Order: sequence, then structure tokens, then C-alpha cells
Amino acid sequence: MPQTILAEVVSIEAATDFVNIVKLKPLIPAPFKAGQYLQIVLSDEDKRIFSIASAPNAELIELHIGAGPDDAYPRGALDHMSVNREVILEVGLGDAFLQHESTRPIILMAGGTGFSYTKSIADHLVHIESVNPVILYWGVKDETALYAKTEMETWAASYPNLQFIPVVENPSADWQGKTGFVHKAVMDDIASLAEYDIYLAGPFKMAGIARDDFIKHGAIKEHLYADAFAFI
Ligand SMILES: Cc1cc2nc3c(=O)[nH]c(=O)nc-3n(C[C@H](O)[C@H](O)[C@H](O)COP(=O)(O)OP(=O)(O)OC[C@H]3O[C@@H](n4cnc5c(N)ncnc54)[C@H](O)[C@@H]3O)c2cc1C
Repeated sequence: MPQTILAEVVSIEAATDFVNIVKLKPLIPAPFKAGQYLQIVLSDEDKRIFSIASAPNAELIELHIGAGPDDAYPRGALDHMSVNREVILEVGLGDAFLQHESTRPIILMAGGTGFSYTKSIADHLVHIESVNPVILYWGVKDETALYAKTEMETWAASYPNLQFIPVVENPSADWQGKTGFVHKAVMDDIASLAEYDIYLAGPFKMAGIARDDFIKHGAIKEHLYADAFAFI
């Protein structure tokens, strides 16, 4: 059940020219599952959706908000928050949360700021000492958008069953890694997706295309999880 809580804004920091990382301290415990989202309540009629980037056990709730100068929806949410201000949140929304009982290998696939969603699940898998093999693919338009690359490389290096694979759509001449659309990189690497639980977030177009292509590539529809599916 979603719960309405008050939280204090602890920090708002630019991770890139486009992405701000917001940290919030809930004034009462904020129950949610890894992979769920929240709404920032601007008014009764205006509630703005963002994935929760932190794991449920974390002290602070973390959000990664992508906002260009003309993106009124996320910009309005950012304008609503300032350090030390209290904001109203509705937490524990969405159905694309981690399936704890599953023993299947896991693919976490993020497009751009969809990384936030995968980060919550990734952190939680470490917290619960999951033994399921996990591959986190993070697709971005260019390298500057990989604001947590070093953190995720350290994450993967620390746990033998975890892998992190960044994928850059329009790479610079210096880029050594995978290129193109992130879901294509997944399909290039893995011959059949039949045995995987796949959790994905990112642009709606990506979610729709990846769902169709992944099913053709063997993925089982019931093992594909994305809240974007409810919006497209
Ligand atoms: C439940 C929910 C929660 C949300 N939470 C957040 C949030 O926390 N923060 C936030 O900023 N937004 C959020 N959004 C909005 C939405 O997810 C973002 O607009 C989206 O992630 C923005 O991605 P981007 O612009 O960073 O990706 P882009 O930079 O546009 O794309 C990143 C990568 O995605 C892939 N991709 C993009 N387009 C295509 C395509 N047409 N075909 C194939 N692959 C493609 C490519 O690999 C590309 O490099 C949320 C939406 C919903 C429904």
C-alpha cells in the first residue's frame, strides 16, 4: 500500500548538466520495495513520479531527476524542493519491484535516468546477499551521462556474481566499451533471454521496443518487469 509521508530535503546536487541527485530524509519510516517509485506531491492535483534510486534499507531516499531547461515536469519538481524544506511524498508505488522468491538470473537494464530504478534493485540485491547472477546494463546517449560509472564498476568488482556493462549510443573516439542501443547490446551478449528475470526502465520508446524485441529473443513476458509498460 502506498504511504504518504513527510521528508526533509537534505541535498540537491548536479551529477551532470541534465541530472540532479536529490537526497531526502523521511520523517517517519517510508516502506517501499526495491524498484518502486514515489510521487512528489506539489498539490492534491499535481503529483510527480520518480523512481527511488536508493534501497529500502537506506537511511535517505535518493532520486535521480533528469531535467533539461524546457522539461516542465521534472523542472517543476526540482523547483518545489530546496535544502531543509519538507516535502510530501507518496511512496511504495509500482508493480515492477524485485521478485525476492525468484532464483533466476537477473538482467537490470537502464536507459538514461532509468538507471535510478536499477540502482535501487542493485543495492538491495547486495544488501540481501543475493546469489542470483546479475548483469546491469546502462545505456546512455554519450559518456558524460554515465555519472555513476566508477561507483558501479566498484560495485561489480566487489561481488563475483555481479556484472556492470555501460553502453554508449553515440560514443567518442576514446570510448572502449559497447555501443548502440542498450537493448541491442543485451541481445548481442545473450543468445536467449528465456531463463532471465528482466527489469528495465528508461524512455518509453525504449521500453516498448525492448519488450517486443526481448520477447522475440526468448524472454518470457511474465518475467519482464517495467512500470513504463503501464504508461505505453
Ligand atoms: C514509473 C516512472 C518512473 C520514472 N522515474 C524517473 C526518474 O526517477 N527520473 C527521471 O529523470 N525520469 C523518470 N521517469 C521518466 C522517464 O523514465 C525518463 O524520461 C527517461 O528515463 C529519460 O531517459 P533519458 O532521457 O535519460 O534517456 P535517453 O538519453 O533518451 O536514452 C538513453 C538510452 O536509452 C535507449 N533508448 C532511447 N531511445 C530509444 C529508442 N527509441 N529505441 C531504443 N532504445 C532507446 C538508448 O540505449 C539510449 O542511449 C519515470 C517514468 C516513469 C513512468
